[in-house]
Formats: sequence, C-alpha cells, structure tokens
Amino acid sequence: MGMTDTPKYIFVTGGVTSSLGKGILAASLAKLLQLRGYRVSIQKFDPYINIDPGTLNPYEHGECYVTYDGAETDLDLGHYERFLNTETSQANNVTTGRIYQTVIHRERLGDYKGKTVQVVPHITDEIKRRFRLLNKDGDFDIILTEIGGTVGDIESFPYIEALRQFRFDHGPENVIVVHLTLVPYLAAVGELKTKPTQHSVKTLLQSGIQPDVLVCRSEVRIPPEVRAKVARFCNVRLEAVIENLNAPSIYEVPFLLKKENLDKVVLKLLDLDPLKEPDLSYWKDFVSRLKNPLDEVNIGLVGKYVELHDSYLSISESLRIASAKEELKVNISWIHSEDITPENHERVLKGLHGIIVAPGFGERGIEGKIYAVKYAREYNIPFVGICLGMQIAMVEYARHVMGYSEAHSVEFDPETPYPVIGLMEEQKKVKQLGGTMRLGAYECTLAENSVVRDAYGEEVIYERHRHRYELNNKYVPEFENSGMRMTGINPRTGLVEIVEIPSHPFFVGTQFHPEYKSTVETPHPLFQALIRAAHDHKNKEDDEGEELDD
Ligand code: GLN
Repeated sequence: MGMTDTPKYIFVTGGVTSSLGKGILAASLAKLLQLRGYRVSIQKFDPYINIDPGTLNPYEHGECYVTYDGAETDLDLGHYERFLNTETSQANNVTTGRIYQTVIHRERLGDYKGKTVQVVPHITDEIKRRFRLLNKDGDFDIILTEIGGTVGDIESFPYIEALRQFRFDHGPENVIVVHLTLVPYLAAVGELKTKPTQHSVKTLLQSGIQPDVLVCRSEVRIPPEVRAKVARFCNVRLEAVIENLNAPSIYEVPFLLKKENLDKVVLKLLDLDPLKEPDLSYWKDFVSRLKNPLDEVNIGLVGKYVELHDSYLSISESLRIASAKEELKVNISWIHSEDITPENHERVLKGLHGIIVAPGFGERGIEGKIYAVKYAREYNIPFVGICLGMQIAMVEYARHVMGYSEAHSVEFDPETPYPVIGLMEEQKKVKQLGGTMRLGAYECTLAENSVVRDAYGEEVIYERHRHRYELNNKYVPEFENSGMRMTGINPRTGLVEIVEIPSHPFFVGTQFHPEYKSTVETPHPLFQALIRAAHDHKNKEDDEGEELDD
C-alpha cells in the first residue's frame, strides 16, 4: 500500500528516565520518512498543567519556541522544524492544561448535557480529538506524536489511555507505538542490563499498550544476544529492537537510525511502501562540514540563563547550522550577564570574535548586558542583539553616545526621564500574562545598503516575535543624528525591527528572533553573516598582531 487517505500514526513514548531524546528520535524518524517521499508532521503532547510554556521560567524547561502563527511552544518543536524544514503551528503542541481548559469551557457551555464530566471518557476524548486535529486539512500521510514525560508518571495516564483507545479505534495497522528506553552498561560487571527496559514495557502493558518498536539508548553496542533477550521478554520482533547509540551530534542520529532500518521497520508495521531510499546526501554534506571546519571563531553568548544551555537552544543550534555552511567552527562562550561589570567587562569579554546579547525578561543581569554591548561597540566586535539584546543596545547607545545617562527601558525603570524603550500601545491594556505578548511572524522591510539587506539578499522578510516593549519612535531622529540607522521597519505599523551602526563593521540589533527560523536545509542568513564577520575580525586581529611583531 502506498499513500493513504487517512494518515498513519506513530506514537513515541519514553521509558526508564527522562532526557533520553524522544524529541530527537521523533525528528530523526520523521526526517527519514519525509526523505522517502511521505508528507510527515510531528506534534508534542506535554503532561503539565500550564496552558503553554510561555509563562515558564527557562530554568524549568529550557527555551520557549515560537511558531510563525504565534504559539509559544516546547523547544522540541524547534528540533522538528530544524530537521524537517517545515513549519509547525499552534496545533503541534498541546498541554494537559489546554485539554482541561477546553473540556471545562465546554462544561460551562452546557455541552455535556447533565452528564458527570470525567477523565474517561471526556478528557480522553478531547485528547483523541487533538491527536487528529493536526491533519484536519488532510495535509499529511504520517503523523508522529511525541508523548512528553515518562510512562508510569501520574501525569501521563490520560494520554496513555487515550492512545490505547485511539489504537483500538483506528486499528493496529494504522497506529503504532515506538517506545524509547535505556539499556544501561554496568561497568563493574561489564554487562548491558535489560531489566529497566523490561519494566518500562510492563508498565505500558499494564495500561493495555504493547509497543511495536523498542529504541534502546545505549552507550555501547548492543550484541545480538542482548537484542534477542529484549525482543523475547518485551514481545517485539527482533528487527524492531533498535540500537540508539550516543551520537557525536544530534544531526547524526538519522544516520544511526537508518543503519538500524528503523524507517523500514516502521513502514512495514504500518503497511506502507518504502517508496524510495532516503536521499541523505545534503545531510551527509552538512555533517561533514560540521566536522571538518577550515577555521574557528569564538562567539560570546551573553544571557542570564546560561547555566542551562537549553534556555538558548535555537540560538546555539542556529550558530551550529550556520557554522557548517560557512565551514567555520563556532566555539560558544556562555557568559553570564551577572558576571559582567563596568570594571571587569574588558577582561571578561577579551578574545571574542563576535558577541550575541540574548533575549530575556526582567531586571537581573541587565547592567552586564549593557557593558557587553558597550564592549562590542567600542572594540568593533561583530554584534547581534536579539529582542532584549537589541533594546539593551539602544539603552547603551543613549547612555554612552547620546549622553542620556539615565536612559532605560520602562520595563526596568518606569520612571526614567529617557524612556528609549517603551511599552507597546496595544500592551497597555493587557492584564493577563499568558499568551498576550506580540507573538509570531510579522513583515519587515529592509533598507538598501545595510548589513541586513546584504545578508538576507531580499527586501521583505518575515520573522517571528515575542515581546511587549519596542523602540520609542520619539527618539528615532536623535538616534539617527548620533550615528545609528534604522534598517528594518514594519511597513504597517512603523515599528523599528532592526537597528545598525554603519560606522561599525557589524552591529545589528533585531526586535525579532531570527533563531526560530534556522533549519538544517535553510541556515539563517543573519547567523551566517555574523560568523563571517567574526572570522573577518579574527583575521584582522591576526594581521594587526603580525604587524606589531614586525
Ligand atoms: N522583555 C522584552 C520585551 O518584552 C524583550 C523580550 C525578549 O527578549 N523576547 O519586549
């Protein structure tokens, strides 16, 4: 059987422990199926009660990813987009909070006609409805659904029960379960242990679900007799026991899984034709460039959540993807903005060839960010300020170039006499925190002869946003008179989207978040341009060093 009218469903569940990489597994499997010619999408169901991760501190779950249509989502959606090179949307991320919100709203409307509203069937029905929702327009042949959390967690029960029913409703040839587990290696006895995997499969079985495929994370190769044992005790076919070794980078996981024939096994279970061999040549080239750079550059990423690198996942992956394109290795220095002071900033930031000041909210670490900008500006270090990073660049410029030493963003100092960054008009009436920022993709027109116009090679771009504050247009003439240039404008509202300093080799602030739009197949032009500028800076420094040696 080839393409189908009704899509096929692959569910990815996790066992034993969290952080085994369900998101990367789902994205890699989806990539292989996409390269075979199927129309594929991935959605994630998260077990927490928050309506979306927009209100979560990044220390909790890492970055909040933003889709083109303005959904604030789990960071796994970033992996899905970067791997599949297709956009996700509001429908691709659902939380328990959203499920309950819908059901409770319906109860208030009286839709349940006097019935007692219960987890089964009302919550599970809503989960099942949402499983199908992504394909409401019939756009896909295969839908992968990642169930967040670990099986056995209290929070996961309604999802697992909904999955059991969903498979019963649609038939096992249309709905399969890929279970990701861990096969730990015990160095003391020199053995791989299958018991945790057996237990997690038993937990699934207790809920009425027999997994079809077991993907086993392992630090060492899994020998045939261990695979056979897993197959026998967990009731899966031998060929469906898939080894998933640690890969040097997440972008190599599709290759490892292909070697294990995961895509073929899955298609066979779903009664689908393999169609064609997946053409991984672009990815092979990408990985080989990633591994064989011609030179390297040091880029400082200044933020206040740097202890948890996942807080800036899309930025670091954008750098990685762009670095492969440029054949330059990017060494990211994770710099805590609270560690930067007016006294030490020159010492702390020395040796960087490029600086990014990250997005963020709240006061902590703001002074450090201001001094990171000052350093980049005064020492001609290529600079990109993203969202808050751009706003801070304006504050720095107003203070140290325009002489307004009390200039600030009203987010941090509502009483400042020089509010160069103000609250957006439409935000003034906003009372509720969740889902109320300016979110999603907006148009931006790029000025001629600017760094960004050169980088993008286009006049009109669409980039994604997540903010409440903006450059106060009252100050635009003063900024322009003192050497800044507004090089990206929203044509409908006049909102300043990009600023540059033309006398600096590469100084760009963006109100939007370019990092959400990088994919392996379409590296982001701004990150590429930053890396090139950083390399030019490095070469220049080397030349100057040599001149001094002479
Ligand atoms: N806190 C700033 C605002 O809301 C910047 C937000 C961000 O960096 N994403 O405008």
